[in-house]
Amino acid sequence: MRYIEPHAHMVSRTTDDYERMALAGCEAVCEPAFWAGFDRSSAAGFFDYFSQLTEHEPKRAAKFGLKHFCWLCINSKEAEDVKLAEEVIALIPKFLKCKNVLGIGEIGLNKNSRNELRVLEMQIELAAKFDQLILVHTPHLEDKLKGTRLILDVLKNDKRILPERVIIDHVEEHTVEMVLDCGMWAGMTLYPETKCTPARAIDILETYGSEKIWMNSACDWGVSDPLAVPKTALEMKKRGHLAKTIEKIIFSNPKKFLHQSPNFKLV
Ligand SMILES: [Zn+2]
Repeated sequence: MRYIEPHAHMVSRTTDDYERMALAGCEAVCEPAFWAGFDRSSAAGFFDYFSQLTEHEPKRAAKFGLKHFCWLCINSKEAEDVKLAEEVIALIPKFLKCKNVLGIGEIGLNKNSRNELRVLEMQIELAAKFDQLILVHTPHLEDKLKGTRLILDVLKNDKRILPERVIIDHVEEHTVEMVLDCGMWAGMTLYPETKCTPARAIDILETYGSEKIWMNSACDWGVSDPLAVPKTALEMKKRGHLAKTIEKIIFSNPKKFLHQSPNFKLV
């Protein structure tokens, strides 16, 4: 089995996780910028985090034979302070020159607030200006449907943004169709408890097909499983899916989307 982990917060994981992922067939891991589990006190905290994502973490991954890529942004959980967001966004253009950066993400909404929406628009502007791919985080639980609709409206209204260059992550049964209908890509997050379980993710694939869709573990500092993608691939095999379908979901699809960034190179 070979696969790409398109969404994992490796700065929170151990070297054992890297080793287990490499043993399971992982060829590349992509790390969106996200919340650290606590609010950073200044833009300087983000400067250090972006340095970690672009300099240190690729070296740590390389020790296990894994390619490491990242996405940059201020996440929606820290976007309530618009002034801080402006300062952080001003740091990003310099880091876009780093060779492992794939685009702007994971931007999006958390509580669907007015300030979050404003910061989302500022970061879509940044992506348009620098011709970057976009990775979007959608809110959890009851706010997901409303938040996904709001995000899709903002993206669709900006004619500079090509839908095939956007991935909307953490889709579930009630949001996947509207994302695919817009021509955007959909990411399913495999979590042991919340988000999609492996069984639910496979049900979604069986309902909506295997075009423009990928799976990720979104493993971070909380309860999550860095091996969720290969485990779900095994579950697909048990349910009778063909090897070529499984490879498409866990390898070819993420490769096709990510290849739109000139920085995504597997060798
Ligand atoms: Zn994430």
